[in-house]
Amino acid sequence: MNYKKLIRSHIKSVPAYVAGKSIQETAEELGLSPFGILKLSSNENPLGPSPKAVYAACESLKSSSVYPLPDARFLKSAIAKSVSLNPDSVFATGPGMDSLIDTFCKLVLSPEDEVIISVPTFSFYEIAARVYGATPVFIPRDPDFSVNADEILKAVSEKTKIIFICSPNNPTGNSVSEDVVRKLAEKSNSFIFLDEAYVEFSSQGSLIHLLTDYENIVIGRTLSKIYGLAGLRIGYGLMKPWLACEMQKIALPFSISSVSETAAVAALSDTEHFQSTFKMVQTGRKQLIEGIHSFTPFKAAPSDANFIMVDVSPFYSRQICDSLLKDGIIIRSCDSFRGCGKHSVRITVGTFEMNEKVIKSLSNASVF
Ligand SMILES: *Cc1c(COP(=O)(O)O)cnc(C)c1O
Repeated sequence: MNYKKLIRSHIKSVPAYVAGKSIQETAEELGLSPFGILKLSSNENPLGPSPKAVYAACESLKSSSVYPLPDARFLKSAIAKSVSLNPDSVFATGPGMDSLIDTFCKLVLSPEDEVIISVPTFSFYEIAARVYGATPVFIPRDPDFSVNADEILKAVSEKTKIIFICSPNNPTGNSVSEDVVRKLAEKSNSFIFLDEAYVEFSSQGSLIHLLTDYENIVIGRTLSKIYGLAGLRIGYGLMKPWLACEMQKIALPFSISSVSETAAVAALSDTEHFQSTFKMVQTGRKQLIEGIHSFTPFKAAPSDANFIMVDVSPFYSRQICDSLLKDGIIIRSCDSFRGCGKHSVRITVGTFEMNEKVIKSLSNASVF
């Protein structure tokens, strides 16, 4: 018996998720101490988690024998307060926003359905859609990476259920305009999944207010980026209450652990940590872009996020990543992003000292 036959046939088309390299892997490969390695490949918070969140998480470990509330009620209230919405518009879930994307696809997609993805972008939308048997339709962004609403609307069919838009976009760093989202919400007869994983870093700000005008918008958020809790895996969605109810119905019960919930509530209240991260990213982004333009032949794209995308032509992105790796710096090659080509890298904004090291290493890499 070939047991592989028991697996649903469309799982064959699911690509593997490519994650940034870990410090442990890199240390082993290079024979370096993990402490000398800078990980700027996964857009984590280089300042670490909020100390208040760490304290709260430690305290909550003492009650680990008890199940959390199934709908993470305390976290939902804290999130609702932080975004000025009602708790019934919030769906909190783990692990991470990835789980929100998965739950949403599970709710909406049947085999033969289509989703539209504006590429290059975050790769998990494609994976989640394919898992439920849906077909992704990829619409390239314009040369300046803006979302092409007209091409997307042309691609909409009877089968289209979800249009995925990431803003600020991973890996290109730019935001979508409000007009584009309104146009898509009004004309597509589909859901718009607006991924705002990095919105706290952007000067344009969130499009949350569109939730009042449209029933078909779902906003995805995470505590993994500005809140520095990537390891605790907490995400949430903002949407109309009727839709949040449907999500809650099919969600895994207790998907957010009590430790994660407690830490997240504390992190959301730590405005000091939030502000220092925000300021570090604002100044660091400028420092990196100016440094790269002054000391390397490379071209950094403007960014609203805590990372920048750099075109390292005529070099291949892999060459530049390998070269930085020799200096103990892990950055992300964008060649695994569909539609990104082979010449772009993505670098997480670090502290002043980290950014200096990156600029120096990039400048050395460019004179080979
Ligand atoms: C990091 C990221 C997420 C998901 O983060 P989680 O850690 O699963 O909450 C979602 N979308 C984008 C664009 C991201 O970069």
